[in-house]
Amino acid sequence: MTQVIWLQPEAPRQPAPGQPCNGCGVCCAAEPCPAGMLLSRRRRGACRALVWSAADGCYRCGLVQAPRQVLPWLPAAAAPWVARAARRWIAAATGCDASLVAEPAAPGRG
Ligand code: SF4
Ligand code: SF4
Repeated sequence: MTQVIWLQPEAPRQPAPGQPCNGCGVCCAAEPCPAGMLLSRRRRGACRALVWSAADGCYRCGLVQAPRQVLPWLPAAAAPWVARAARRWIAAATGCDASLVAEPAAPGRG
């Protein structure tokens, strides 16, 4: 199945399966993880928690990086707990396990 996703032109290219996650954003822009599905209330398309970090030149999970930006109602005291839990839920710092294959748009098509 083919799906169009939109990513920052500066985003790093998707690494090979098993390589360290480089924040390319492909997986989260195509299909939210279980936590992202709950948050975004959708099974396909970009996750609401996906944030572009211009400073780092890559995408980050907002639930991990800035939980209160994603969940404005969250008490400040609970934010570190949510960030830690999200890190475990999404298995942060593990290799890329995305089964998707991203291809850049053809010239002139975005
Ligand atoms: S898990 Fe893979 S596809 Fe998802 S952001 Fe990391 S490197 Fe990109
Ligand atoms: S890792 Fe974070 S940004 Fe990516 S789909 Fe899951 S909740 Fe959303």
